[in-house]
Amino acid sequence: MKSSHNPGFGTKAIHAGQSPDPTTGAIMTPVFQTSTYVQEAPGKNKGYDYSRSHNPTRTALEQNLAALEGGRFGLGFASGMAAIHCVLNLLQTGDHVIAGNDLYGGTYRIIKTLYEKFGVATTFVDLTDHAQLQGAFRPNTKLVMLETPTNPLLRCFDLTAIAAICKQRGALAFADNTFATPYLQNPLAHGWDVVVHSTTKYLGGHSDVVGGALISNDEALHKRLAHFQNSCGGTPGPMDCFLVLRGTKTLHVRMDRHCQNALAVARWLESHPKVARVFYPWLPSHPQHAIAKKQMRAGGGMVSVELKATVAQAMDVCSSFEVFSLAESLGGVESLVDHPASMTHASIPAATRRASGLEDGLVRLSVGIEDEADLIADLDRALGRLK
Ligand SMILES: *Cc1c(COP(=O)(O)O)cnc(C)c1O
Repeated sequence: MKSSHNPGFGTKAIHAGQSPDPTTGAIMTPVFQTSTYVQEAPGKNKGYDYSRSHNPTRTALEQNLAALEGGRFGLGFASGMAAIHCVLNLLQTGDHVIAGNDLYGGTYRIIKTLYEKFGVATTFVDLTDHAQLQGAFRPNTKLVMLETPTNPLLRCFDLTAIAAICKQRGALAFADNTFATPYLQNPLAHGWDVVVHSTTKYLGGHSDVVGGALISNDEALHKRLAHFQNSCGGTPGPMDCFLVLRGTKTLHVRMDRHCQNALAVARWLESHPKVARVFYPWLPSHPQHAIAKKQMRAGGGMVSVELKATVAQAMDVCSSFEVFSLAESLGGVESLVDHPASMTHASIPAATRRASGLEDGLVRLSVGIEDEADLIADLDRALGRLK
């Protein structure tokens, strides 16, 4: 993108990392569906020699995502988990990790089942309590990892304050920004070292691709991550990169509508007699509302609601929507409903789940960009079954 001034988010979303194809003028970055590249002489190439290492469609995506997060370097991966694995692989036996106690299930699983056996210990802490965080540090603590807002309780943590603690303690600060998206929140600007996205969610935005990305600023760190990306090969194919690039072009427009609809849904739910609690960062009743306001542009598209319902009743409500679809995942244009206790979070033992505040009547909504009135009518109908 040629630009003499610092462009706004929407302009970057559409143009960063992409310029018309020099050979044809094609305005969209082509899907470079190729494994190898012809060399002019041995070792003399145009910057591309093999598509695990580099691919022009992937380069465009990596540069686009870096620009959106306000970072210098981007790396594409075949999934969000492949990207998280890349950062965890910076660790070695004997290292210690501090992680939020409210993490994506797959992140918890990789830490517990694949890293503990190599002698990497993890302490899970309540990151709203900075004294607890400070107390969890050990001399060998190398990495602090969090998500904000979290899944499914949408807890928010102070990015500036926690990054400062990490810096003071010499630990790498690693933020999963999947729920907020780079449009709503930029952890690097608060002093975080690495940001991960599951591009499967809002960045792709159309529930048609699985992918991941890392964005960072420090060149030495980026080189270590890039070395892993190329060595282990969990890279995305060019078609998947193309789909995510197409998604990011409308990220700002979609997010505005996701946030507007989610706020309307959250407010409506808060006044419903069968609702015990609504979790949404933009509601003044949210315990970390002030932190959310400080570091986010809007409240995001995810709303969780605790119904005054038994497991069976909550499952019945979840099965009776007409506009919302009953499914895992999130961040697509269509609205989804999830019952964490029996779906996304079923692998967590019931007692542990309840102790962390995740009640059996909790329902998670990924609020899409359909018409607000239709979403609320659908909720009204489904919740009406609780009479
Ligand atoms: C989905 C998700 C992941 C994992 O990403 P995949 O693309 O499914 O591998 C990680 N973190 C969060 C917050 C997610 O929602």
